[in-house]
Amino acid sequence: MDDFIAISALQHFAYCPRQFALIHVEQVWEENRFTAEGRLLHERVDSGAAEQRRDTRYERGVMLESQQYRIRGKMDLLEIQAGNPPLYFPVEYKRGKPKVEDWDRIQVCAQVLCLEEMRNCHIEEGALWYWEVRRRETITITSELRAATLAAIQGAHALLVAGVTPHPIADTRRCRACSLVDLCAPQAFLKDHSRRYVEELFKP
Ligand code: SF4
Repeated sequence: MDDFIAISALQHFAYCPRQFALIHVEQVWEENRFTAEGRLLHERVDSGAAEQRRDTRYERGVMLESQQYRIRGKMDLLEIQAGNPPLYFPVEYKRGKPKVEDWDRIQVCAQVLCLEEMRNCHIEEGALWYWEVRRRETITITSELRAATLAAIQGAHALLVAGVTPHPIADTRRCRACSLVDLCAPQAFLKDHSRRYVEELFKP
């Protein structure tokens, strides 16, 4: 096994490092309605053939890899507008709706890093298409988003090397939407952790 990280795993890391470790270090996985719908959506989107419409080529299920960042994955759709140089525009399909946080945008930015390395280009924009609201959100690949993506890549690599699952996050809203909530048991973990902390404090 090599040390490459799946691009989709970066979204797990950005959402919750414990979720990333449970899936990619401990290899546990629990499907819920959201993950099942997301999987079916990607199967449908990725299976289409490439097509040309006017000056734009649409490639689906494109394999990606970055030797520099040790990440790889498959992107849903790559739009290539003819020109000199050609304009590359990645599009990732998501089951839900747009989010304030950068979790989904980090995944697109990681795709951009791969494409820039593989096709020797510079990409300034990509998009997320949200199935629940049938809306496409254009993403500007800012230096801040690039920095957040590199931080996620570094953090995920470090966690894989350490092989230690972090404590649960304090954001119960995220835990409620997490497919691993039963396996992770964040409330029980935090209760047990506080109990042990108090025991340590009052140890004779
Ligand atoms: S339940 Fe919460 S703490 Fe546990 S993996 Fe999911 S998001 Fe992270």
